[in-house]
Amino acid sequence: MVKKKRVLTGDRPTGPLHLGHYVGTLANRLRLQDEYEVFLVVADYHALTTKPEKADILAAREYIREIVLDYLAVGIDPEKTTIYVQSDVPEVCELALLFSMLVTLPRIERIPTLKDMIRDQKIENPSMGLMFYPILQAADILHVKAEIVPVGKDQESHIELCREIARRFNGLYGEIFPEPEALIGDVPTLPGIDGRAKMSKSLGNAIFLSDPPEEIARKVMQMFTDPARIRPDIPADPDAPHNVVFRYHEAFNDDKGEVEELKARYRQGKVGDVEVKKRLIAALERFLTPIRERRAYYAARPHLVDEILAAGAAKVRPISQATLAEAREAMGLSARHLAEVKTRFL
Ligand code: ATP
Ligand code: MG
Repeated sequence: MVKKKRVLTGDRPTGPLHLGHYVGTLANRLRLQDEYEVFLVVADYHALTTKPEKADILAAREYIREIVLDYLAVGIDPEKTTIYVQSDVPEVCELALLFSMLVTLPRIERIPTLKDMIRDQKIENPSMGLMFYPILQAADILHVKAEIVPVGKDQESHIELCREIARRFNGLYGEIFPEPEALIGDVPTLPGIDGRAKMSKSLGNAIFLSDPPEEIARKVMQMFTDPARIRPDIPADPDAPHNVVFRYHEAFNDDKGEVEELKARYRQGKVGDVEVKKRLIAALERFLTPIRERRAYYAARPHLVDEILAAGAAKVRPISQATLAEAREAMGLSARHLAEVKTRFL
């Protein structure tokens, strides 16, 4: 049997999953699960990098469950995809420590994603943990030797670092790791409802997959539109990047004819923002209703989440241990190397 290629990606348990996750990465995860061996990590150590308070950690425990429910709700099949919690597989930390010796501090400081995160979340004094996190992420990917990493555009620079680490390790100690490729989603970065460049759990500008219909309607009605368009008869450009309502229509409205028609009328000044938004609400409801139904099924059976996570950890841990042993052996850190040195003293 030909060995299936491995895929790894994941999410920080800093909140439930949103529409940006869907188009940025979840859709690709779904597509890949039939053909590849897919691993999804709920990255609780990564959440600690910006939220280390005890209350945050306890909240993250809840979000772990929410995120697993979101996976199941969109159609991730736990028979095909291995879902686990990062801190259940501590070997990854040791691998990350070994990798950290191969990366310079200036290299980490140049990572644009990290810079954006520090700016957006107004972090004045980043912790060592935060600076270390791209390395830990490389270990997440490489401990299962994943070759494909489905992520949003914001994560591309982290995957580049991961490739560098793999290359450097292989060059120094022998070919052990693949150089994984980022697989960016159909919408590389979905903007937030406030018009900001990225919808993010931490920025308060997200529509969650688990939002109830009233919440969807409320968020869409408050969505950012062209501020210069104060009346519906003013012609305007629906393709202007800041016009986020149309970005959502493009990403989620399955009625492409309707989207084109709305755009044409918008250009002519023949449609109001309210109608464009009401049609978006209807489109999002078509998209989210089956997701909501599957979520309710699993939410009513919480033991299933526990079972899935226990099975996931049990599957990943031996893989992680084997990779770590292989890395230590290649580096000359194994017990065998110590024994060999002993003979010289005899
Ligand atoms: P946080 O604000 O806590 O960083 P987040 O919303 O950015 O949360 P992450 O858990 O950091 O979510 O990201 C998980 C995955 O989803 C990553 O692959 C990321 O690239 C992708 N992703 C997150 N937000 C978007 C978005 N707005 N558009 C496309 N992809 C996204
Ligand atoms: Mg993020």
